[in-house]
Formats: sequence, C-alpha cells, structure tokens
Amino acid sequence: MSNPLQYLHDQLEQWRAEGTYQRLRILESASAAESRFDGKEVINLASNNYLGLTTHPKLREAAIQAVRDFGVGSGAVRTISGTMTLHMQLEERIAQFKNVEACVVFQSGFAANAGTVSAILTPEDHIVSDELNHASIIDGCRLSRAKIHVFPHKDVAAAEKILAELESQPGRKLLISDGVFSMDGDIGPLPGLVEAAERHGAIMMVDDAHSSGVLGRNGRGTIDHFGLHGRVHVQVGTLSKAVGVLGGYVCGSRDLIEFLYHRARPFLFSTSHPPAVAAACLAAFDVLEQEPERIERLWDNTRHFKKGLAAAGFNTGISETPITPVIVGEAKTAHDLSRELFQEGVLATGIGFPTVPKGKARVRTIVSATHTKAELDRALEIFEKVGKKLGLV
Ligand SMILES: *Cc1c(COP(=O)(O)O)cnc(C)c1O
Repeated sequence: MSNPLQYLHDQLEQWRAEGTYQRLRILESASAAESRFDGKEVINLASNNYLGLTTHPKLREAAIQAVRDFGVGSGAVRTISGTMTLHMQLEERIAQFKNVEACVVFQSGFAANAGTVSAILTPEDHIVSDELNHASIIDGCRLSRAKIHVFPHKDVAAAEKILAELESQPGRKLLISDGVFSMDGDIGPLPGLVEAAERHGAIMMVDDAHSSGVLGRNGRGTIDHFGLHGRVHVQVGTLSKAVGVLGGYVCGSRDLIEFLYHRARPFLFSTSHPPAVAAACLAAFDVLEQEPERIERLWDNTRHFKKGLAAAGFNTGISETPITPVIVGEAKTAHDLSRELFQEGVLATGIGFPTVPKGKARVRTIVSATHTKAELDRALEIFEKVGKKLGLV
C-alpha cells in the first residue's frame, strides 16, 4: 500500500541533503547561563531567559505554593470555570505595571497576537504590517481575513503612504509592528509609526515580546522606552521570555480587554494557565520592580559581548538590543557554525530561511543578566576560534 504521507519523508530527505535538517537539542538541566544539552555543558546563548528568571527562587517558591494551594490545572477555559483569582491578580498586576486600564492574559504570546488581531478586525478592514513582523502577527492577520498591506522593514514613510492611500477606503485600519524584532534585535520606529497612525486614524498595535523585561523603566517595554503611554491602543507582551515563565498578554483600554474576553478564540476555546504559571508570573513582576540591577547587568553584558564580536570581525547586523545575530549568509554555513560552536562549548542556534530571508542566515545569540564576564569572554574566544576555522573572520 502506498503511504499518502510519503511526500513528507521526501521533503525531510531533501533537507538532510541540503544540510538544513534540524535535530532538536535536548536540554537536560534548567535553562540558565550554562546548561547541559545532549550531555554537554555549554554556555547558553540561545535562550530568551534575559534576566535569569526561569530559576529565580521567588518564582520557584510562588509556583510550588500555588501547586500546594490550587493543584496543577485550572480545569477549564477562562469563560467556563477556568478563571482563578490568580489569573485576575496577574491581569491587574500587568495592567498596573504597564500603566494601562486593563490586561488579558493568553496561554502564549503567539495566542495573544493571533487571537487579538483576528478578533478585532473583519474582512472589510485593512492591516498595515512591517515585513519582518513575527509569525504570530502574520497568522493573526491571515485569520482576520482583513486586507494585508506589508511595508518595508521600519519604513515609516512607506507605512504612512499606505495609510494615506487607504484613507478613502471603507473599513478600519490597523498599523502593527514588533517593538523589538526577534531576528535582528533592532527596535521598531514606534514614535514615527504612532504619529502616522494618529494622523490617519488607525489603530496602533505593538508586539513587545522581546522588549518586555528588557527595555523601558523596570522592563516596561518599548512604549515606556519611547514615552508613548496612551498612544498605542493594543500592547502585546510575553510572559515566556524575560519574565521566565509562559504566556502572553494584551494591554489596552477596558473596552478592548472586555471585547477580547468575548471574542478572542484562544481565550474562549483553550484552557487557561495552570495556577503555578500565573503565580510564578505574578512573582516575576515583583522581581522586575525590586531587582532593577538585573536589567542593568543584562545591558552591561550586551555591550561587552557585542564589542567582542565586532572586534573579532563578525557581521552583527543592526542590533540595538541583547539579541545579537552573527550573519553568515547561507543556511548551511549558519548550521555549520552553530554545530562547531556547540562542540567547543557554546550553544547558539543557526537560523535560515524561511525564518530569515535567503542569504541572511545567521547564528543568533542572546546574552542574559546571569552570564558572568568570564563566561562571555570564553564564548567570544570560541566564536573567534570557530570563525577562523570556517573562514568567516
Ligand atoms: C516569541 C515571540 C512571540 C511569541 O511569544 P510566546 O510567548 O513564546 O508564544 C510573539 N511575538 C514576538 C515578536 C516574539 O518574539
């Protein structure tokens, strides 16, 4: 009998032949500055655990206490019987932290984006979207069936031109950008975009997944970084990166949040966070407010590591944040570099098409607040050694 899934096998074989087949690396310890993957201790430059909160004692304790008090699951979706006191406390805590009226927490940042864009727009509406926006935004746009207009990366004038052209058309307009772009580590041109949205009466939405806990006062994100409070109607953030746990959230007006309570499909049709997750996230916001030195160390480490990579002669692109790509061109080169780095004791993931454009393959590094200078210097030495071996520097 023929196998109707044979084409999947053929595609996998092709990826193996091209050297882009990706085996999952298995993390055998906690996610930390140094972790054990596949039986090997390595310096971990591949996690989004910017502040080291995945293993913070206060978060661990909060999670354990929540398990003791409330068990391991919420038992239902939020709208049936799965809204626990902890979920409401977390939403209030985030709204207060972000200086907005209200907040809704989703199971992930992905669900927050996909669920929100698809809920607030209809096929009659228009979306004006940066070409490098995150996949979850793209999926949300597609699910909404609104008309999608993509503008070149960070090109405010191009975005404004599209908004101007749409002025005569019926339907609502949504202007949407990442706050920090996850592959290049550059910051979105939010002041310009906000002004363009205001001039043309568009809804302004920003996805701050990589800026939550990283940019702005105590990690309040890019809206705080740029002083744009009250001018971004839909603010998305994640609890899965710097916050160290799991989840996503949307901040905005009380009306926006109550509307999402009624219409966002991941909120309506997927079970809410286990109590331990909500409790750990709550503790994380205490840590953000009480331990700002973590964010200072993150930026200090970022400057140190970027300087070292540049001095070694690597192309680190246009990054302005702790995300530093080492751009090498072909996907195979990126995967070779990643593999050699791992052998020498550094985990940094190779990323190629379709996650980044063809010819812009890279190894992406993210330093954390918890890396020591000695660890970063060792990683830099290894980068230089492997880079020379592969003829990259
Ligand atoms: C990681 C990321 C997300 C998804 O967040 P999760 O909580 O991991 O689902 C959304 N948007 C951007 C820009 C991201 O980088």
